[in-house]
Formats: sequence, C-alpha cells, structure tokens
Amino acid sequence: MPAFPPEPGERVEVAIIGGSGLYDPEILEGVKELKVYTPYGPPSDNIIVGTLKGKRVAFLPRHGRGHKIPPHKVNYRANIWALKSLGAKWVISVSAVGSLREDYKPGDFVIPDQFIDMTKKREYTFFDGPVVAHVSVAEPFCEDLRRLAYETAKELGIRVHDKGTYVCIEGPRFSTKAESRIWKEVFKADVIGMTLVPEVNLACEAQMCYATVAMVTDYDVWAERPVTAQEVIETMQRNTENAKKLLYSLIPKLPEEPERCSCCNSLETALL
Ligand SMILES: [Zn+2]
Repeated sequence: MPAFPPEPGERVEVAIIGGSGLYDPEILEGVKELKVYTPYGPPSDNIIVGTLKGKRVAFLPRHGRGHKIPPHKVNYRANIWALKSLGAKWVISVSAVGSLREDYKPGDFVIPDQFIDMTKKREYTFFDGPVVAHVSVAEPFCEDLRRLAYETAKELGIRVHDKGTYVCIEGPRFSTKAESRIWKEVFKADVIGMTLVPEVNLACEAQMCYATVAMVTDYDVWAERPVTAQEVIETMQRNTENAKKLLYSLIPKLPEEPERCSCCNSLETALL
C-alpha cells in the first residue's frame, strides 16, 4: 500500500460520506472545494471542507453531486484515500437502506455493528501486493463512533436501533423476492444496501474510525407491501433532515483522538 501523503495545507478531523439524499454539506461554514488526487484515480467528487462548531470537517457525496455514480462504480479506494490524506480520523458514512425486519421501520435509523458481503466485483483492498495484509474485521465498525451516533440520535428523538447486520449487495438492481427472503430468513440480516462494502473495510485498512448511519427508506421486497414512489420520497426527505440534525450534534462531540477503540491500530494486529 502506498503511504498516505498528507495533503499540503488543508487538514480535517472528521469526514462525512453522504449517501442518497445527502449531497449538500449545508451544516458546514466557510466551505471551500478541494480537488484531491489519489493513486487510485479521482474520488467521487471534489471534497468540500468547512467548519462545524470548531471542528474541521470534509464532506464527500459518495455518488457525486447529481447522483451520477452507481454503487458498483464508486471509486471506494480513491474516496477513502482522499479523506485519509486530509487527515480525517473519524468517518461518518450515511446511507439509505431497505429493512429486512418488521420493527426496523421506514424513517428509523440503524447503526449497524456487522455486515455480510454479497458484492461481486469491486476493488476491496489497498494491499494489492507486493505488501499483503489481512486486517481483522471481526468487529468492522468503530465502537466509540457507533455509541456516540446512537446516543446522539436518541437524544434528538430519532427512532434509532443500536445494532444491525447490513447485507451489501452488488446492485444496481434490487433483490428478487427469493433473494430478499434469503437475506432475511437464512442470513438473518437486518438491513440491505449497496454501498457499505468495501468502504468499511478500506477505512479499516486505513486505520480510521468508521461507522455508518443507515436510514431505512422502505421494507425490501420480502414484505410484499407495495409502497408508492411518493411515500419513499417523503421518507427520504425526512431521513435527510434527521441525518443533518444528527451530524450537527454528533460531530462536535467527537474527541480529538479516539479513546477506547482499536481502529487506528488495525495494521498492528493484521496478518502481514
Ligand atoms: Zn475507532
């Protein structure tokens, strides 16, 4: 893996990767755009850097502004590399998901603690040789960040679940009913989406503290519960507003250095 070069000039502490619905970093002040170059090509968009209550924050829309990049074409390595090169220690990723269980309702937030990877053809690692490393993802998310995200959402009155298994499919198509029932009944997954992998494990390789705020937009097709496009749009709008509130309250609480987690030492315990 090439060493992460610090970008001259701009440094940030926190990075937000915005998902469907969250393209605009309007919670940041004094923003400017940076074009960041990486060994893996360009990230999804220019990175917007600004301040939130004294914290320096980078914002990157995962699908690019205008949602031009589908999940299977996102350059996850360039995105994580670019955010790391700016100095980000914390990565808060926001994504829209379908629910695989009755009690995770549209409009609810889930802070997943596990994932199942059903993607098929992505670039999964920075360690493509000659340096080889096998990082542990037994606990793939930062526990400190998960806990803070959960507690903050709860304080804000958002319906939020502190655990969940996220099954990541290749997309861009949705699941068949047969597949959806497998994710639900055989895999026992709780939510489904298309963007978590390899973003989460690349952040782990980059020794960053990463957590995802998964916003439920609908029940996946297992429920056979027809929803209108209008209902999904309304739920997404409400979710986006709640995500902005959450980020606004959560980011100022993040300590300068992670306290108890071991995310930043992931390579010390990796099999090299
Ligand atoms: Zn951590």
